[in-house]
Amino acid sequence: MSDCLYCQHIQKKTNMLFENEHVFAMLSPQPAIPGHVLVLPKAHAPILEVVPDFVVGDLFKVANKISMALFEAFGAQGTNMLVQSGPVAGQKQNHAMLHIIPRAEGDGVDLSWTPKQASEEELTKSEGTINDATKNVGSFEREKPKPKEVEAPKEVQKEDPRVKFLRRIP
Ligand SMILES: [Zn+2]
Repeated sequence: MSDCLYCQHIQKKTNMLFENEHVFAMLSPQPAIPGHVLVLPKAHAPILEVVPDFVVGDLFKVANKISMALFEAFGAQGTNMLVQSGPVAGQKQNHAMLHIIPRAEGDGVDLSWTPKQASEEELTKSEGTINDATKNVGSFEREKPKPKEVEAPKEVQKEDPRVKFLRRIP
């Protein structure tokens, strides 16, 4: 069995809410607040950035449905969807995941920061640095088509008329 705790959860279907071919959703065993849901790629990946594009798309689709369910069934007043890539971003497990946290007025969950005013110079500098690296945004990796299983034509076993004839011979 895998060393990764979350691969084990996926295998054992721990706290499972939903699964499809690529995605597994479960209640967090260490929630920020009750109803905290984790949406994970089934194939192990240490951070979201190395998850194939078509799985990333699936992760967000599932996350959005679960978020809706938290509003409707769980009575959430709001939700946060959060990805933590890297320990400095708060990532604690070595398996990529998307957190969906139901929110309520005064729930004490703190994900806030104080917005600062950016200078023109700073924006221009950041834009220049990031721009080159974003040239491939828009070219997305697609899932390779699975080989179609072609059913082998069943050989029709016709009885050889000669055999039929032979059977009559005592
Ligand atoms: Zn894993």
